[in-house]
Amino acid sequence: MRFLPVFFDLKAGPVVLIGAGELLRAKLRVLAAAGARVRVHAIDGDQDLGLSTEDAARIETAAGDPLTADLSGVIAIVCAGAGDVGVAMSVRAKTLGLPVNVMDDLEHSSFIFPAIVDRGDVMVAVGTGGTSPVVARRVREKIEALLPARIGELAEFIGGFRKSINERIAEFPLRRRFWERVIDGPIGASVLAGRKSEAGVALAAIADPSEFARADKPEGSVALVGAGPGDPDLLTIKALRALQDADIVFHDELVSPDILDRIRRDTTRVAVGRRVGKPGIGQDAINKRMIEAAQAGQRVVRLKGGDPFVFGRGGEEVEALRAAGVAYSIIPGITAGLGGAADFEVPLTYRHEATRITFLTAHKARDAEVVDWSTLTDTRMTVVVYMGMTAAPAIRAGLFAAGRSPETPVGVFARVTRPDAQGAIGTLRDLPELVRRVQGGPAILIIGEVVRHAGSLSRESLKKSSAQIISDLLDAAE
Ligand code: SAH
Repeated sequence: MRFLPVFFDLKAGPVVLIGAGELLRAKLRVLAAAGARVRVHAIDGDQDLGLSTEDAARIETAAGDPLTADLSGVIAIVCAGAGDVGVAMSVRAKTLGLPVNVMDDLEHSSFIFPAIVDRGDVMVAVGTGGTSPVVARRVREKIEALLPARIGELAEFIGGFRKSINERIAEFPLRRRFWERVIDGPIGASVLAGRKSEAGVALAAIADPSEFARADKPEGSVALVGAGPGDPDLLTIKALRALQDADIVFHDELVSPDILDRIRRDTTRVAVGRRVGKPGIGQDAINKRMIEAAQAGQRVVRLKGGDPFVFGRGGEEVEALRAAGVAYSIIPGITAGLGGAADFEVPLTYRHEATRITFLTAHKARDAEVVDWSTLTDTRMTVVVYMGMTAAPAIRAGLFAAGRSPETPVGVFARVTRPDAQGAIGTLRDLPELVRRVQGGPAILIIGEVVRHAGSLSRESLKKSSAQIISDLLDAAE
């Protein structure tokens, strides 16, 4: 480690910023956002600094040569797009013992700028020792995604109560447990949900903070989380956070291994799903185990393929949780139909051509018999069928009976958004053959005119590997 990350108080005096063009303006924005007083030497003479009036009050433009300018009281020197002047300025700053940064020039810098995640009082700085700002930015994006938007407000909220709680709990470890319980429990959740005053009332209502901290049973809860169709990058930010926070995850068989990899390592995982031909532990047993875990104080995630409320029995689970009085939340996911449509470039609606969508399930031929096919006669309706592989011949018969043409375009899309995704496109007449062609499920069927718009089926060749993306980025940055 060559550079130690520290946080610099900019209130002590002005920062001198020297440079030109967009590089100068970008650095000025960073310094202005941090509340700095800045003295700017625009060496190209461009006085348009693009500042808001609010910031402009703290920014002064300096005329004259920065190499001979008076630097008394100055707390740091920053050069961005300053060319040789930057190098000369660095020599001058070092003689005076002033911290100096010359952009993209480690040799002449005594400090460097990290990539910043700014959430008010919560600030994360990411550095790569000056080796690769592009990598630092990538890391920052990942952290941005993980941190709740209101984490800064949570820190501020706690800051507001810290003094009074410190006075009421003498022992440090107990104090820490008090705050951990607050952050992890309903009070923390209220602040993160933007309900600060509600949280304040709840915190003020804690009569005995020491006793609250000592309570050994945390409050458990269940999050019903949609895992999407397979690609872990399609998890929502909320879903990812829930997976990282969970003590125990009950997951369906359909959830892809890549997604299970995103669960924290020390979290208990329990596979509870059914698969075709293989019974699971049963819905009642799943409900019972989730409720018991939450009542024992665990943060439970019930992880389901796609979206929990689309053919996922999420509704029944919520009813059981309500009946048991367990706190729960629902985090939607991308359902297989939408994942497949995006993956194979089938727009589910299309101006004039397709004006409505039906999602239906036909697991067995028997299910297909109970579908009211007469509701599906409209040729401008796109039909998306879940669990429809075995019942393909019955589905075809039903749609024929509804008057759909044998020439209706059909796509069978298997393992969508996964590396081994496969699709087969043809007409309704060939449906059972198309199902055979994709070599196994899970698969959805999309039926309707829109399938004509499907993109290339060899999307693998179109997809760039992540290594390729990073190398492209590096090229662009050079
Ligand atoms: N809740 C899930 C659906 C569960 S029913 C969702 O919203 O997606 C299970 C059916 O979903 C499968 O039989 C199949 O039709 C479909 N399915 C799930 N994952 C899929 C995938 N990766 N590719 C294609 N179909 C999938």
